[in-house]
Formats: sequence, C-alpha cells, structure tokens
Amino acid sequence: MQAMVLTKLKTPLVWTELPDRQPGPGQVRVKVAACGVCRTDLHVVDGELPYPHVPIIPGHEIVGRIDAIGQGVQGLTMGERVGIPWLGHTCGICPYCRMQRENLCDDPIFTGFTRDGGYATATIADARFALPLGEAGDDVSLAPLLCAGLIGWRSLVIAGDGKKLGLYGFGAAAHIIAQVAKWQGRSVFGFTRPGDLTTQNFARALGVTWAGGSDEMPPEQLDAAIIFATVGDLVPLALKAVRKGGRVVCAGIHISDIPSFPYALLWEERELLSVANLTRQDGIDFLRQVPEMGIVTRTTTYALIKANEALADLRAGRFDGAAVLIP
Ligand SMILES: [Zn+2]
Ligand SMILES: [Zn+2]
Repeated sequence: MQAMVLTKLKTPLVWTELPDRQPGPGQVRVKVAACGVCRTDLHVVDGELPYPHVPIIPGHEIVGRIDAIGQGVQGLTMGERVGIPWLGHTCGICPYCRMQRENLCDDPIFTGFTRDGGYATATIADARFALPLGEAGDDVSLAPLLCAGLIGWRSLVIAGDGKKLGLYGFGAAAHIIAQVAKWQGRSVFGFTRPGDLTTQNFARALGVTWAGGSDEMPPEQLDAAIIFATVGDLVPLALKAVRKGGRVVCAGIHISDIPSFPYALLWEERELLSVANLTRQDGIDFLRQVPEMGIVTRTTTYALIKANEALADLRAGRFDGAAVLIP
C-alpha cells in the first residue's frame, strides 16, 4: 500500500510505500476510493490536538470498498461500499459509552489521528464503525459527508429546531448543512470572513436567505447559530446575533481563544455549547436520510500524492466546499 504519512508534526506529509496490512479480529480492510480533507487534519498536522501521534496517516472521511475481512466480523460483505468516520473505536464500558454518549468515550480511537486513516490506498477499520453507504452517489461526493456532513448533522440536531439558523464559517461543513437545513424548511444565514464575496456568492447559490461577513449582524434575529470556523472571536458575535433563549453551538475540535465579553450577551437564557465527535447513531440517522436530502457537495479533487497541496489550499481558503483525495 501507499500512503501520505505525517512523520513529524508541522512538516509536510511524506509519500511512503508500506507493506500491505491484514485486518485483525473484528476489523476490515478497506480499499480507499476517496478521502475527504477535513480542517481537523490541519490540527493533526500542526500538533494542535492533545496527545498528538506520529507517525500517522491522516484522513477520516473515507469512502472505499471492503477487500479483506477479519475474524468474527458480521453484517459486512466483501466489495461492500462503506464510509469510515472520525470515531474509529469506543471502549463500550465507560460511563459515556453506557449512557449512549460514545462520542465522549474515555478510551476512544480516532481515525487519522490515533489510528492510521485514509490518506492511503488502503486502511484498516473496526468493522462496527464502518458505515454502509449503499450504491447511491459517487465516491467523491460522499466523502465530505463522513465528517463535515456528520459533525455538521450532530451540530444541527444540538442547535435545536429553530427556523432561523446562522452558520459561521462557510466551508465544507456549512455548505452541506445549509442544504440539509433548507431541506428541513429552515432559513439559513451564512457568515464568511469579512469581505469574502466569493464565498458569500457561493452561499447564495446554495439558496441561503442571507449571506454576509461575520462582522455584520443578520437582518433578523437568529434562533440558533453554529460556528464551524476555528475562530474564538466569533463566539460573542454569534451570541449577539441570537434571540433570547437562542443557542450557539461550537462545532470545531479546536478554536482560538474566546475573548472576554459582557455577560449581557449570554443573559436571557442564551446557551453556548460545543459538539465533540460523533456517535454511530448519528452516522446511521444522517446517512439514512442523505438520499432524500438531495445534497450536492462541491468538491475539489487532488491526487493522493498532492495531499500537501490540498492541505495548503484548505488553510488558505483557496476553494469553496471540500477537498477530496483520490488514490
Ligand atoms: Zn467508552
Ligand atoms: Zn473531520
């Protein structure tokens, strides 16, 4: 197999030939067809997450087909198309696993962070965390759904069912969730970097009610807002934009420090909370509805060997939507 490997934090990934791997008990091997590039991959490369692991193969938006099955695996077949998300394994016995909050598991494994991921021609996954994708949709279009879509979905559920929804940071996740929210009959207000008219136009083309800079106030008070951008300064701005009792959800795994702000912004039962990881049930709930939702993902594809270029373009905001690597 070949892979793009992070051998040292804050250095470019290295194209590497590796021996083929065999799935252990309860695992499958997946021949990668496409792997999305997530902002979390930048945090992995930059060493911004706690307990960074190297060497590691990043990538946790994996679409591929099962080409080897380990002992004791049930319910998956050779050649079946599956998606491998960020949450790669949970312990099943900690208090969080037992209270249906496996996203907070005390002893988890994360794909592309604490286990090798999908910036490769093949990957090994825990069979219980391989989500069947069916045959509808092409591999590249589906890849961003595995994290941007899934974490976005969890954030949307946690944001509540308010009709007026703000999305701060209009990248891979927001461009999917804007379509989902619209499909649910909500009005979407898209916030971009100030002056980023290209992305504002992109948001309008997806049918948002309003698009503007994050330094602007929306024309109406919002019921809820989700912050996808990794910018702590957006927290007080989003709190200011939501109505009494409104909710602000931080979807990022890592954001810059939140500046101090007047208590009046939180007063009147506004809520501020974060979303961490996903559960398998999130995956099942979201992916089951995907065919009806009519989501059209905007993707920019790169050959696997160009992964460093894809990461650099993501960092610089050089494309709208999501980047996807093809081995
Ligand atoms: Zn657990
Ligand atoms: Zn991700």
